[in-house]
Amino acid sequence: MTMYEPYPVPELAREHKRFRYSSLWTFAKQDLRLLAFLLLVATCIGLGVGYFWASIFIAFLIFFGFQLRSLYMVNEWISNRPYDTPPNLNGIWGALLFNVYRAQRQERIVQAEMVGLIDRAQSSLVALNEAVVLIDDLHQIEWCNPAAENLLGIRVFDRGHNILSILRQPKFIEYFNHIDQAPDGIKIKSSIFDDHYVQIKLTRFGEQSRLLVAYDVTRVHNLEQMRKDFVDNISHELRTPLTVLSGYIETFTDQEDLNPRWKRAFDQMQSQTKRMNALVNDLLLLSNLENNKTIAKNQIIEMPSLMNQLFDDAQAYNADYGHTLNLDIDSHCDLIGSDTEIASAFSNLITNAIKYTPKGGIITIGWHDDGVHGYFTVQDNGIGIDPKHLPRLTERFYRVDSARSRATGGTGLGLAIVKHVLMQHGAYLDVISKENEGSIFKAVFPKERLYQMM
Ligand code: ADP
Repeated sequence: MTMYEPYPVPELAREHKRFRYSSLWTFAKQDLRLLAFLLLVATCIGLGVGYFWASIFIAFLIFFGFQLRSLYMVNEWISNRPYDTPPNLNGIWGALLFNVYRAQRQERIVQAEMVGLIDRAQSSLVALNEAVVLIDDLHQIEWCNPAAENLLGIRVFDRGHNILSILRQPKFIEYFNHIDQAPDGIKIKSSIFDDHYVQIKLTRFGEQSRLLVAYDVTRVHNLEQMRKDFVDNISHELRTPLTVLSGYIETFTDQEDLNPRWKRAFDQMQSQTKRMNALVNDLLLLSNLENNKTIAKNQIIEMPSLMNQLFDDAQAYNADYGHTLNLDIDSHCDLIGSDTEIASAFSNLITNAIKYTPKGGIITIGWHDDGVHGYFTVQDNGIGIDPKHLPRLTERFYRVDSARSRATGGTGLGLAIVKHVLMQHGAYLDVISKENEGSIFKAVFPKERLYQMM
């Protein structure tokens, strides 16, 4: 039987019911037979000695006495030794006793099976390499397996203690209080072993109880760190040769007596080095964002001035495209964050809207709030995106149409940067798009990131 199959209790209950109805009559017949026998004897004696009604009365008294005796025995068994075999009784009392005994035995079998199952479930949890901790609605540890000690330092005798007094890392406390904000859980540094990392996932169950599952992710963390370091190093290494190359190429391109054939070649070289420069810069920015190297995320960013600045930049970029640009500010809130990062993320969304909208389109850049969230939006009526691409859009180098993206000078890293910048500000990107109709890219900021002058 698997853990999830219900016990065959209904089956037992049905069997029990059948027995009760068939046997009750059988047992009742025994009582009737006894009564008939007593009445017969009483009638004979009564008619013989001339006291008919008195004999009948005595017969009833005797029958009643038998019943009282049975009742006494039933009561004695139920009160004092319900787990023993019941006394052997005839009549309906016997049937009653047998039924109670049978139901009780079945109950005990089911109970034993339940306990067995719980034992098995518990021993399988004990054998797990992953830490499992049950936390009650008062945040106290109800149960934990041995792996919880190795991974999180929670010992068996910590049961009854508040989990937040044992796992005191601010990141965990924040996650514990806002589980829904990190659906995949969080990664924290192990407090037991240096240089070890643990992935923690909390799941709510029951009223307010929580199930904590944790596992060691040190290997994955190290591989991820190697990848980040590699990209970081290679981008740094490429930067110097690229600067030298672009310098020379620019000098040659600017020469007036340059042979037109060479001029074309140098122009191409210049545009390619520009692309490589943009790529290296984006990779470095992304790497800084990933390694949390950024600073000052608590500046007050004056939104009207940022929006006007972005709008002016967009007008300049829009010169070749001829779109109609609108600015729509409907909020008195400013943003709390890193101004350069936020500006670069917003500008990425705006240039994308300009790039991916056929000439003469309409693009609206907006900022508004609803008291709970702040929304920076960029709406276009451009080429739009098939919904199947939306979940992967913020992956590095993911492009819906690679050829078009390259032709527009895109690095394929823009939305990955946007996503990381927003994540660092506790915000997220929401995309609504329809192919050939246009898109709305919405950066949604939490209330804590909004600032309103009194
Ligand atoms: P890229 O440098 O290629 O523009 P991004 O990361 O900025 O890279 O964007 C990823 C992909 O998302 C783009 O290649 C494009 O296919 C799609 N995309 C982004 N913004 C828009 C938009 N406003 N309209 C249509 N497609 C878009």
